[in-house]
Amino acid sequence: MLNIVLFGPPGAGKGTQSKKLQEEYELVHISTGDVFRENIKNKTELGIQAKQYMNAGKLVPDNVTIGMLEKEFEKNKNSKGIIFDGFPRTVAQAEALDQLLNKYQTAISCMVELKVENEELIKRLLLRGKDSGRADDKNEELIKERINEYNLKTAPVASYYKNKGIYQAVQGIGSIDAIYKSICETLQKEAT
Ligand code: AMP
Repeated sequence: MLNIVLFGPPGAGKGTQSKKLQEEYELVHISTGDVFRENIKNKTELGIQAKQYMNAGKLVPDNVTIGMLEKEFEKNKNSKGIIFDGFPRTVAQAEALDQLLNKYQTAISCMVELKVENEELIKRLLLRGKDSGRADDKNEELIKERINEYNLKTAPVASYYKNKGIYQAVQGIGSIDAIYKSICETLQKEAT
């Protein structure tokens, strides 16, 4: 399997770039944020559990998130590979992901981080909030809280992959196509 972690703060462009990679490399795209939103829409138990955290700009607890991710992975274990978008967001999630993949004799091939400055993230998210329908994109305080959570709990996950020697960074500023090209070049060098 070709398993990629697309990493970066909210608004870095992970979702947009994941969709392009998914088509070209015939990979499955798992966005934990999308799975939570779908569950909230369908009023499932998981959705009820996740909603209060998402509405506060906080991370959903690890046990809930890891349980959900395991189920999503198992649905797609026979695929060519997976793009993980928005997961792992804590070191505990990264460890759980390694254990899960190991159980299926596979591993993460590469983490690619999209680098974007805070000010640009806030601008992009407020713009996205105008038509994404996402409540957490409309409120600047909530956006700042999500970036804060990212810096506090998620940024350290990059070191986890650096230590494994499978971390790469790509500049997340510029046209969607130019950023996509950089990601593909990185993957060709590192992961295929
Ligand atoms: P996203 O769509 O990736 O921006 O995620 C939206 C929200 O879903 C986040 O602000 C978190 O509340 C929650 N979420 C998504 N993925 C995770 C994760 N891996 N761990 C914890 N919370 C998550």
